[in-house]
Amino acid sequence: MSTKTKYVYLFGGARTEGAASMKNLLGGKGANLAEMCRLGITVPSGFTISTEACTVFTERGRDAALKLIEGEVLEGVAFVEQEMGKKFGNAADPLLLSVRSGARASMPGMMDTILNLGLNDEAVVGLAAKAGNERFAWDSYRRFVQMYGDVVMGLKPVSKEDHDPFEVIIDMIKETRGVKLDTELDTADLKELVARFKALIRARIGRDFPTDPWEQLWGAVVAVFESWNNDRARVYRELNDIPEAWGTAVNVQAMVFGNLGDSSATGVAFTRDAGTGEDLFNGEFLVNAQGEDVVAGIRTPQQVSLVGSRRWAELAQVGEDERRAKYPSLEELMPEIYRQLLHAETTLENHFKDMQDLEFTIQEGRLWMLQTRNGKRTGAAMVRIAMEMLQQGMIDEKTALQRVAPDRLNDLLHPIFDPKALKASKVIARGLPASPGAATGQVVFFADEAEEWAKQGKAVILVRQETSPEDLRGMSVAKGILTARGGMTSHAAVVARGMGKCCVSGAGAVHVDPKARTMSIGEQVYAEGDWISLNGSTGEVFAGRIQTKDAELSGDFGALMALADRYKRMEVRTNADTPEEARVARAFGATGIGLCRTEHMFFEGERIVPMREMILADDEDGRRKALAKLLPIQRADFEGLFREMSGLPVTIRLLDPPLHEFVPHDEAGQREMAKEMKVPLTKIRMRVDELQEFNPMLGLRGCRLGIVHPEITEMQARAIFEAALDARAKGAVVKAEIMVPLVGTVREFNAQAKVIRAVAAQVFAERGQSIEVMLGTMIETPRAALVADSIGRQAEFFSFGTNDLTQMTMGFSRDDAGRFLPDYVKAGMYEHDPFRSIDQKGVGLLVEMAVNKGRAVRPDIEVGVCGEHGGDPASVAFFHRAGLDYVSCSPFRVPIARLAAAQAAIADG
Ligand code: PEP
Ligand code: MG
Repeated sequence: MSTKTKYVYLFGGARTEGAASMKNLLGGKGANLAEMCRLGITVPSGFTISTEACTVFTERGRDAALKLIEGEVLEGVAFVEQEMGKKFGNAADPLLLSVRSGARASMPGMMDTILNLGLNDEAVVGLAAKAGNERFAWDSYRRFVQMYGDVVMGLKPVSKEDHDPFEVIIDMIKETRGVKLDTELDTADLKELVARFKALIRARIGRDFPTDPWEQLWGAVVAVFESWNNDRARVYRELNDIPEAWGTAVNVQAMVFGNLGDSSATGVAFTRDAGTGEDLFNGEFLVNAQGEDVVAGIRTPQQVSLVGSRRWAELAQVGEDERRAKYPSLEELMPEIYRQLLHAETTLENHFKDMQDLEFTIQEGRLWMLQTRNGKRTGAAMVRIAMEMLQQGMIDEKTALQRVAPDRLNDLLHPIFDPKALKASKVIARGLPASPGAATGQVVFFADEAEEWAKQGKAVILVRQETSPEDLRGMSVAKGILTARGGMTSHAAVVARGMGKCCVSGAGAVHVDPKARTMSIGEQVYAEGDWISLNGSTGEVFAGRIQTKDAELSGDFGALMALADRYKRMEVRTNADTPEEARVARAFGATGIGLCRTEHMFFEGERIVPMREMILADDEDGRRKALAKLLPIQRADFEGLFREMSGLPVTIRLLDPPLHEFVPHDEAGQREMAKEMKVPLTKIRMRVDELQEFNPMLGLRGCRLGIVHPEITEMQARAIFEAALDARAKGAVVKAEIMVPLVGTVREFNAQAKVIRAVAAQVFAERGQSIEVMLGTMIETPRAALVADSIGRQAEFFSFGTNDLTQMTMGFSRDDAGRFLPDYVKAGMYEHDPFRSIDQKGVGLLVEMAVNKGRAVRPDIEVGVCGEHGGDPASVAFFHRAGLDYVSCSPFRVPIARLAAAQAAIADG
């Protein structure tokens, strides 16, 4: 006997079939609605159609899916009818429904919502009579037709310069009536709107607006399933690594109304501050408004708490009298409801033990909770909330560490404005501090243009009237986002915080004219391409370009990092080539240098000249002369690094890139070299041509250079030993490690080691003193990994160069693969870009094998990684499992790697 799959789960006062633990099946929203019912919180009854139904829809099509769920949906509607005491489709007293999507992971603004479903020309009359409010009924109806027309029937703006076609009609009617706000439209206007909306739909798609409530319901359910695969949902999934196979659930729920007059309202709230993490209940609401009004940013929302309201007024420069009269808090306006809301937020936060993002509606003095979910937050808020919940005893240390997404620490390392430059700058407008950070860039008005400009390497600020999910890609590449409308919970604000991107929203003084591609503030007009700057932490907008400077670690961030260090097993070193980089990395908690790319030292200032002389020289003699000039420069650089990193290991790699990279390729440069070296231009040209390789990445580079020209290795080794002795003489505790690059056979390593040891003996004899220096190798060719046991007998440490190891194992050129890899990943050939996050199944296997081979022959061999993967959280977790002693990454990724290493250790048990 086969058991029938259940596709529909009820929730409500009398019966609740789901629970928070059923997120995969019911989506986040559906699971939490059920959980709220279980906690005794008042939620309008409804039912959730499972994500499995969406999968059937995607795989087997509409008819198959609807056939499977039809009976259960009928039963679901009957349940809601019973709970609410109203009938769906009863024109005299209609039960109205909302239909919303709800995936496993929250996807704000990505999926579509339909409210007031069930209305038609007859039901609107019944609703008006029942509510005793004709205007409300028609307002609900026109919203329904508008939403349904957009979401289900597909009436969108025709081109990007166009406005929403429904909003155009609303604006026209408002203009004829001489009114500014939607709320000023009367019943006759709303009737007119409904008629015009329907006519627009008929004219555009040649079909009538459906009047049968059941047809409306099925249309909406199908639209939610389809929206799982619309462009904006796909973009969001791509950006957030959400698999397509998850599907979305559909939540069908009884409507409650926030627009039934002045004792009704609707709002959103956070149990803690999503921007700063402060433990302060906060949120926004609008009286006599419905659902999306708060997030759409059409009216200025009011604050739920009095404290929040006062803070808002200060930022918005609204006086206390005006605030109290025009924008009172919910706490002042409806104290009893506010008390109930506080009770709900406390219950929910204590239950879920995480910051909650709530939606609520007040219908004629009664509070209904519509949604709760873990709130999106900035990186700063993530850290503060985790650390405060730890102190408050709500969560333990491991949970606190796991609450912070390592990548989001980037937000805290965000630049801030240089205070001096800021003083000289002029504030031209103020908006809400929607997402922190400082941004400076050129104004663009369209998301696709933001993308194009960013591709050309320009810093852009995306300026919009308000943003919509279509703007996602543009927002993700912009330095900052400025919107003229919208509150702290507007789409722009929520999405920007999610991305950790600076955003100022609701800057009312900004008038955007997308057609003219200008924005005006008072008399001043700013055109596309003009520079402006934003402070997402204060809401200020400045004219012109302002220097930014880097942030510092302290407070909760410092405490979180200290906690991470207690749990992590691996050390985190840094890739640094200058004492300045080393200093920054040490402040970020690096416990050594894992890679100093010595070649980077040759590019600075005048140093390139002797370097070129060395390369272009005809013979060893000429090379030695040039190397003699380079020696003091290198020695001073190394001494700086040793002193900055006193007490910590410093791994210096011998010269790696092909010589061709250093020589001048332009005629002027070649002339200069000819003059410098007193040789004819043609000779220089010939040498440059000789150095050219078809595939320099696989050519004369790495230890091959030092083997062909041992004098280079000699100079570098001398510089290192002399610098180590000099630094020690000045009080530094020197722990130097010399690293040989691109080794493929132990013979290469031995050849270089012999040169280095000979130089060491010479220097020590000259100076009459010696110093311990470790001698090891990079493992970055597949062959080196394969013969790691033979190499490990000679080398004291391994450092995985996973950039080259990825290139050579996968056969993707580091220089060229960027052109096709994104498409390749999109096509599903690999799960992600293997240069960003290590290919664990392939390249990773070589790493594991080499670690084992190395340890087998030298149990105390030190193993680390210094490829770019050292700062990627997923790769860090892999390296932990592979048993590495340390990862090394760029200075700004050090905190990220420290946290990722701690999380990996925790996951390990
Ligand atoms: C590597 O190959 O991973 C490495 C660290 O060296 P480079 O990037 O300098 O080639
Ligand atoms: Mg390399």
